[in-house]
Amino acid sequence: MITGIAVKNQTKNTSKPVVSTWQAALATAIRDPSVLLERLNLKNNISFSDIAQRQFRLLVPESYLQRMRPGDPNDPLLRQVLPINAEMQILTGYQSDPVGDSHATVALGLLHKYQGRALLLTTAACAIHCRYCFRRHFPYSDSNPLRENWQSALNYLKQHSDIHEIILSGGDPLTLSDARLYELGKKLASLTHIQRLRLHTRLPIVLPERIDENLLTCLAKLKQRFQLIIVIHANHAQELAATDVQHALNQLHQANITLLNQSVLLRSINDNTDTLCQLSEALFAQHVLPYYLHVLDKVQGAAHFAVPDELALFYLDTMRKRLSGYLVPKLVREVAGAASKCPLPTI
Ligand SMILES: *Cc1c(COP(=O)(O)O)cnc(C)c1O
Ligand code: SF4
Repeated sequence: MITGIAVKNQTKNTSKPVVSTWQAALATAIRDPSVLLERLNLKNNISFSDIAQRQFRLLVPESYLQRMRPGDPNDPLLRQVLPINAEMQILTGYQSDPVGDSHATVALGLLHKYQGRALLLTTAACAIHCRYCFRRHFPYSDSNPLRENWQSALNYLKQHSDIHEIILSGGDPLTLSDARLYELGKKLASLTHIQRLRLHTRLPIVLPERIDENLLTCLAKLKQRFQLIIVIHANHAQELAATDVQHALNQLHQANITLLNQSVLLRSINDNTDTLCQLSEALFAQHVLPYYLHVLDKVQGAAHFAVPDELALFYLDTMRKRLSGYLVPKLVREVAGAASKCPLPTI
């Protein structure tokens, strides 16, 4: 039974709604940590935290699970999604809104922090729940994502002709149905000063089924009006080591969409030069350029993922020596109130 998921148009001959493959995959994603551990033969090896699970529940699509190594309690994909006790530590300096989003909100769901571009929170939904997410405490219910709220964002954008790029974010904008995505695109298209549309999405990595024919048609239509950029989010080469992901990225590449990646530097997941270099190489092999490597935002519950700045700078320095220049991401930190992402070293 599929609940809570938007359904596509109904077919002509039957009143039964048609649910896309990706919508079915999202509806049947794993939400129970004990089921996840059982599937990986790890039930007796690791424990998960019920309290952390209640705060931000586990969500893992089957495709992503398929890329985890059974029997490995330190699998870098598993560690990104499993709720554990360490999340319950209260540490000073770790906040619920570490990047100052609430101050940058200029209309419901619209963040205007930087010159020339603005970020629209299109939905609260994601296809995976990453434990280090800086939006894990975000008060989504106050700050959009309803259709009527786009209107106030659109009104603001209408009055700001210096904004040339809109970033669709969330949550994950590709959890919206194609119809809603296209509807939003059409509204933005009426603002002649908007030249570029950028999607920040983890779906090509975590739910590659999403990149289906319907979406590609929708993106092709948007591309007639906008330059399209898709910024994916992968943290480890193992996330790219699957034919469904490679197929999805190849389809986007064939559609002539600029593909970039952002990663988060995460302790015990990708905090060494070899892993970071492998990620850059794996991305480029799939037509994706490394864009940002973010140091962790200090969000409550994520302190155990933090990597010291000196180490981050050391990894970047060694990457620079090993890789072609275009494979080295920019190492940045988000500083509340700053005019851009800040290259390290920063406060
Ligand atoms: C990160 C971010 C952007 C995009 O910044 P770029 O450096 O252009 O990638 C835009 N708006 C907000 C609110 C952001 O957090
Ligand atoms: S996909 Fe992105 S927004 Fe969603 S939980 Fe993961 S990091 Fe956060």
